[in-house]
Amino acid sequence: MSLPSPWRADFPAFAAFGRDCQTYLDSAATAQKPQAVLDALLGYYAGGAANVHRAQHAPGERATLAFEGARAKVAAWLNADSASQIVFTRGATESLNLLAYGLEHLFAAGEQIAVSALEHHANLLPWQQLAQRRGLELLVLPLDAAGDIDLEQAERLIGPRTRLLAVSQLSNVLGRWQPLEALLALARARGALSVVDGAQGAVHGRHDLQALACDFYVFSAHKLYGPDGLGVLYGRPRALERLRHWQFGGEMVQQADYHEAHFRPAPLGFEAGTPAIGAAIAFGAALDYLEGLDGEAVAAHEAALHARLLAGLRAFDGLRLLAEPHTALASFVVEGVHNADLSQLLAEQGVAVRAGQHCAMPLLRRLGLPGALRVSLGLYSEGDDLERFFAALHHALALLR
Ligand code: PMP
Repeated sequence: MSLPSPWRADFPAFAAFGRDCQTYLDSAATAQKPQAVLDALLGYYAGGAANVHRAQHAPGERATLAFEGARAKVAAWLNADSASQIVFTRGATESLNLLAYGLEHLFAAGEQIAVSALEHHANLLPWQQLAQRRGLELLVLPLDAAGDIDLEQAERLIGPRTRLLAVSQLSNVLGRWQPLEALLALARARGALSVVDGAQGAVHGRHDLQALACDFYVFSAHKLYGPDGLGVLYGRPRALERLRHWQFGGEMVQQADYHEAHFRPAPLGFEAGTPAIGAAIAFGAALDYLEGLDGEAVAAHEAALHARLLAGLRAFDGLRLLAEPHTALASFVVEGVHNADLSQLLAEQGVAVRAGQHCAMPLLRRLGLPGALRVSLGLYSEGDDLERFFAALHHALALLR
């Protein structure tokens, strides 16, 4: 079963990779970019860069139209009601920090923020630091045996003092979809705001945010085949209205005088300074590219490849998966072998995987592990990548054991 990807040729990086990286299996860290994204980036800069929302000249109008067009594409991708619900940031991390500052005024000492035990640092540290600033309690929702947020415990722990719930849609370490609908219903029933970290989830399948019914949803463009330096913060209109402005400067202001100022609502009020114009336009091209694919075929390819990945890993003696992943990635350890040594030997054989703590140190500590290896897939990954990875793993383990 060779499982070729019909979309691989759209990604020039695979022709450019030399012998030092023939096998890229680190797409959960960042994805390769299709030619359409590179063309859009080059097209914007080569055609004449200009700042947005400021100038009356032709390049400025073109840039503004293309930038706002990209915002509309993101809104359509997420099935948002309106483009004004989409704030462009520098990445998922900045979106979450924006929320932790912008919502700070809503909290009184003694109230609670709930996160889960599997959060990426980006969806833990902004809330931890907010809790420290305001004298709040950070509730850490425990996981069940499968590695999912334990709903019974969540039900017990989330109470009237819980003002906000912030959880991942898809774990970047365990690769499991979290029981979001139930968690979001619980947050709603308790009157808590909800934040979903979609950094991994946004990449696999399309999510209708009106149906999901969270207050805020964040992700980064670079994992969804777009450029880096660009993130998205989606908010429900009423939730966005509750945000206080957090970064101050050009274009986010309605009226400014020396001693006071009035600020714009979302989205522009939360995009102080010159935004990542080229990146936003190129991300629009990434979404156009994805729109043009057969989503079901992509999902079927990813599922077949993932099943092959799991079956292949299970064939190795002493290899243990951290959890039974649902999609796109697998994290594992091998008895008696340090994950960093293993990833080094894989890298020397031209195989790119990720080792370490995956920006989730508390989770790895809870699992009693110093680190783990993670193999992750993109829509361009194919069976031959896995075969080369398995062969390299075999070789590495023969050297190490
Ligand atoms: N949350 C999760 C689950 C992630 O996997 C990542 C990226 N590793 C982030 C948040 C942060 O994304 P970024 O580094 O692009 O801001």
